[in-house]
Amino acid sequence: MLPPSPAGIPPGNPCVSCGACCTTFRVSFYWAEAEVHGIPDELVIPITPVYACMAGTSQPEPRCVALEGEVGRSVRCTLYERRPGPCRELEPGDEKCLRARARHGVDSLTLVPNVSPPGNVLAPGVPPDDEGLRVA
Ligand code: SF4
Ligand code: SF4
Repeated sequence: MLPPSPAGIPPGNPCVSCGACCTTFRVSFYWAEAEVHGIPDELVIPITPVYACMAGTSQPEPRCVALEGEVGRSVRCTLYERRPGPCRELEPGDEKCLRARARHGVDSLTLVPNVSPPGNVLAPGVPPDDEGLRVA
């Protein structure tokens, strides 16, 4: 039996009912990462000669093209296994996560041991800043 979740905290992976970081930050990375992870060219936008970002995340209202679903309700990363480094580094409950959730009005997240999934985001089903997702 799963342990009860603290009040207000979704059971399991909170990312699958969030997606706020995928729709808040510019998800940028060293361009060669796209090739390393096998991210399709059409999902990557060059920013500089050495940096690229996930398509959709460099616009004024960011939304990664790989994100499916409704933010704050039900989402999934269609690129989960091939997502770039920033998406792997951002952790549920960290500063960027909480900032993104606040921006989208997703309830505050309090993480407790064994509720937090490993790594970040929208697991089998998603998120991302450099140094984690980079804020544009
Ligand atoms: S890391 Fe935080 S902001 Fe990103 S999807 Fe998960 S809970 Fe939401
Ligand atoms: S986790 Fe997936 S949907 Fe979210 S920003 Fe990264 S690639 Fe895009």
